[in-house]
Amino acid sequence: MPDSRPGYFSLTYDEPPSLSLEDLDGIGPKRAEHLRSRDIDTTEDLLLFVPRKYRRAARFTTGARAAEANAGYVELCGRIERVNNPPRHSRRPLEVHVVCGQQSFKLLWFNLPYRGFAQKLKAGGWVTFSGEVDWDGGVPSVAHPSMELSKKKPSLPDARVELEPVYVSMEGIPDATLRGALEQAARRLLPAVQDAVPAGLLDRRDLPRIRKALRTIHLLDSNEDRPSFEADLRAARDRLVYEEFYSLQVALANEYVQQRRAARAPQCTDRELGRDLVRRLPFELTDDQKKAAGRLADDLGRRMPMRRLLQGDVGSGKTVVAFLTCAIAIDNGCQAAFMAPTDILARQHLKTARDLFEDLDVSLACLTGSMPEPQRRETLRRLADGSADLVIGTHALFTDDVAFDSLGMVVVDEQHKFGVDQREALLEKGRDPHLLAMTATPIPRSLAHSVFGDLDLTVIRQKPPGRLPVRTFLRTRQSAPDVYEYVRDRIRETGQQAFFVYPLVEESQKAPGRRSAVDSAETLANGPLKGLRVAILHGQMRDEAKSETMRAFAAGDIDVLCATTVVEVGMDVPNATMMVIESPEVFGLSQLHQLRGRVGRSEMQSMCVLLAGYGITDDAEKRLTHFAGTDDGFELAEVDLEIRGPGQFLGERQSGRAEFRFGDLIDDAELLEVARRDARQRILGDAGR
Ligand code: ADP
Ligand code: MG
Repeated sequence: MPDSRPGYFSLTYDEPPSLSLEDLDGIGPKRAEHLRSRDIDTTEDLLLFVPRKYRRAARFTTGARAAEANAGYVELCGRIERVNNPPRHSRRPLEVHVVCGQQSFKLLWFNLPYRGFAQKLKAGGWVTFSGEVDWDGGVPSVAHPSMELSKKKPSLPDARVELEPVYVSMEGIPDATLRGALEQAARRLLPAVQDAVPAGLLDRRDLPRIRKALRTIHLLDSNEDRPSFEADLRAARDRLVYEEFYSLQVALANEYVQQRRAARAPQCTDRELGRDLVRRLPFELTDDQKKAAGRLADDLGRRMPMRRLLQGDVGSGKTVVAFLTCAIAIDNGCQAAFMAPTDILARQHLKTARDLFEDLDVSLACLTGSMPEPQRRETLRRLADGSADLVIGTHALFTDDVAFDSLGMVVVDEQHKFGVDQREALLEKGRDPHLLAMTATPIPRSLAHSVFGDLDLTVIRQKPPGRLPVRTFLRTRQSAPDVYEYVRDRIRETGQQAFFVYPLVEESQKAPGRRSAVDSAETLANGPLKGLRVAILHGQMRDEAKSETMRAFAAGDIDVLCATTVVEVGMDVPNATMMVIESPEVFGLSQLHQLRGRVGRSEMQSMCVLLAGYGITDDAEKRLTHFAGTDDGFELAEVDLEIRGPGQFLGERQSGRAEFRFGDLIDDAELLEVARRDARQRILGDAGR
């Protein structure tokens, strides 16, 4: 998989025409250099440089004709009627009124180009000016026009009104030159351009051929009075987006096939241990859990290694499904590895596994970076000789000295916290093992499909029964004393527990106004929460201290945990029913949702209070209000994708996978689905459905 998506579109030719950038009129070595600095290395790249917008340009017509055409850009000639030259140091612009036939224009300068500029402008003189027009308000205005003065009426070229493309301006190249170069490149190259997408697919999706699309985009000569221009343009753009998505999906489908074709995964058909496990569960699985578990069991029964992403909102119960799957693998003589992103989480999963597998003759192991060396070596030995069946660990699992006897099943929890290469590193420790990747970040479907196209997708939407939605309140810091009092009273009365979450570990000069865990814990413990057991948890603590704190909190020996976002992933303490998030405006919606998922994990009514800082922006307030209004992680994820882009869903290591040159994951989500279906059908046939 290449690092950057823009590579997913390249033009195909019958016979590549040899036309260099320097061959184009107005482009010499220097300007070619400017183009190259913008990643336009060839004339073919230039063709994929699409206009930012289109505008109607009126040149050398009368002012009235320009007005009638509602031109966005004019190049006109007229007489100066009067000059309003503001006093020095005034904020008002220099205003020059020009009469072009029946229509007057105001030319405006907010900063004068040079001293003495205004003196050259004399009433009665002729001026030829060009620039973008603002027709709003009384007299239309042109700010900072290009202009030429003359005493007599100059002779002008023929009048014309035309639609023209506007490209992003490029340093060192006049807009008109760039436009001309593009036009030339288009005329020369287009006849040889071939479709990279099968014609049948284009017809089925009602999309134009590439030649026609690029012609519509760049060459407007015939378009002025074409009523269908808008529609053609939309189709042309869709055509480019489609090809970009389609090529990506073909690549992903090929990757999918390659991973599976030659591979021979351990075929796990015995399900006795899995059934035992289900029988011993203290609860009944939800329908979604049953369906997901069934799906996974089927995958494991094949020779093709499973590659599945299990997506489920926080608290939907993915862990038990994962362990069930591990049980099937173990039952069939495989070792299983379960990888979690933090020590805390690994330990919690280990505890869950101990409860689940108690008396079932499954040998558990744990591997984290913070283990004492002798213990670590002992674990390595048990993995290598096969005496450990299930290992739960962190990043420590994919270091070089970890070897398995028969690794057949890999679970990656919170998979977006890991890079793809890390996932692969662990997989390579077995012979074509099955992979189950899990994420609690409800990744919008479009994103999942563009980025994880090499994985099959299973979604758990249902929550375990009896769960009440977390009541969420948005308050300002002003209400903090009341909130603290409420939390204190409820803890005293019910023995339930609370999280306080902060964006910072300690108060910082760099981020004034953001609250911090350490400082606030002290203030709370000595003031509003006096008498309660308050503890701190953050990422800079030593691992032992962290896990000891977690253990104590889970055991109910701590009432209030003041934490940073380390509590974000996976922590499961059902008796914790209150969460107060300080400075919530600095978090993304998905992250807030993850945090909120730490409460509401029992049948008790949970609550979450957002204590927003003073003076948050309207946007932030809107976001937080929206958050308080819904419990649906998928809905929040869609909104978040729209606001903050894909980076946060993927982590830095993976976010490059979501960059497109033409396509937009939100606006073009439908086209992405279509392209994906077409590509998978083509590469995988019916199996790709
Ligand atoms: P997540 O999907 O966020 O990883 P977990 O697997 O941590 O969620 O599950 C959240 C909690 O719900 C755990 O305490 C788990 O034991 C419990 N749980 C899971 N499935 C069910 C179920 N079907 N009925 C009741 N409780 C369940
Ligand atoms: Mg989890």
